[in-house]
Amino acid sequence: MQSKIQFMKTVNDFNFENKKALIRVDFNVPLNDNLEVADSTRILAAKSTIIKVLEDGGSCVLMSHLGRPNGVEEKFSLKNIASKVSEIIGVQVQFSENCIGEKAEQAIAELENGEVLLLENLRFHKEEKAGDDEFAKELSKLGDIYVNDAFGTAHRAHASTAIIAKYFPKNKCYGLLLASEIENIHKVLTDSKKPVTAIIGGAKVSSKITIIESILDKIDHLIIGGGMAFTFIKAQGGSIGSSLVEDDKQEMALSILKLGKEKNVKIHLPVDAIIADQFSNDAHTKTEAINAIPEGWMGLDVGSKTNTIFREVILNSNTILWNGPVGVFEMENFATGSISLGNAIAEATENGTFSLVGGGDSVAAVKQFNLTEKVSYVSTGGGAMLEMLEGKTLPGIQAILE
Ligand code: AMP
Repeated sequence: MQSKIQFMKTVNDFNFENKKALIRVDFNVPLNDNLEVADSTRILAAKSTIIKVLEDGGSCVLMSHLGRPNGVEEKFSLKNIASKVSEIIGVQVQFSENCIGEKAEQAIAELENGEVLLLENLRFHKEEKAGDDEFAKELSKLGDIYVNDAFGTAHRAHASTAIIAKYFPKNKCYGLLLASEIENIHKVLTDSKKPVTAIIGGAKVSSKITIIESILDKIDHLIIGGGMAFTFIKAQGGSIGSSLVEDDKQEMALSILKLGKEKNVKIHLPVDAIIADQFSNDAHTKTEAINAIPEGWMGLDVGSKTNTIFREVILNSNTILWNGPVGVFEMENFATGSISLGNAIAEATENGTFSLVGGGDSVAAVKQFNLTEKVSYVSTGGGAMLEMLEGKTLPGIQAILE
């Protein structure tokens, strides 16, 4: 991959022949009740970096966290995923029962070119999350070149994601996944082709305020949907029944609308909603104007008039960012708006628009609607992507640059 971002050093800038790559991957995957991998997206995402090292004639030492263990807990052992990693990479993965110490160092000393070793869960040591320097130093003994390919944790200054980098002053770089995350987010933030549209949905306006404020300078259209739209509608004097609302954020909503006007950003709120008499897929439903929802009813999806308006905006955009569903898409009867939105984004993408989808629930929605291959890029990092879009410097990205 040829990087457009000049300062970015990736695994493609190194030859790993006879070298041990110490790769921070994000194998924080969901496990089922039998402790088997339920979704291997994150393992697949790390594959190309690992293959690059092996094809060069080097070996890989993989380190990751899994879940939120309290000390050593078997159910969070990375041993549970070792066979899945072997299957995906096509190499029998070895396992080290501790991620630091004599045993790990011994295993690494014996590791030959072409081989892969997976270290036990980094978070079995509380020093990982604490960003402990000694722990980072111990980890750094386990490889010749440090590679960060864990975008999902790039916004954390943990020992393995950021602190460790200083022990590899020259021999450190991004993995191919992290590099492509940076490139694709840059396509929205800096290299974007106008008109640029951001679609922000989801439950709460409070969790999206910072991102909205920071992207207003970069976009032409802002589509607001989901539960958060009702705080805007109520602030404008509309009746929203018992729809989700954050009363203490009404002022904020009005100031976003004002700011949008000042910055020449066209803000599109829903005009109608599918309303329900209870928060259930079996509720009675009808369509109502967004600002005339009767008492006892709540808006759980956008209505068909809104779908038409949102579709029009999307089809006229050259760059699209989608974060957050516009309805309770987990329930079939309230998924239509998010499906319609996803289909419009897919259609625009087919016509040459660049579309970036990110943030936990929108990624789940895109998967549920089978649209993953029909958008330009699906980000693997929820919090990390949002923080990057907010313009923050991510410790995991910065550490490689220093
Ligand atoms: P977030 O994590 O903030 O992106 O929110 C995603 C969640 O918002 C999803 O679980 C949706 O079910 C929920 N959501 C979307 N629209 C609504 C709505 N109108 N009322 C309540 N929840 C909603």
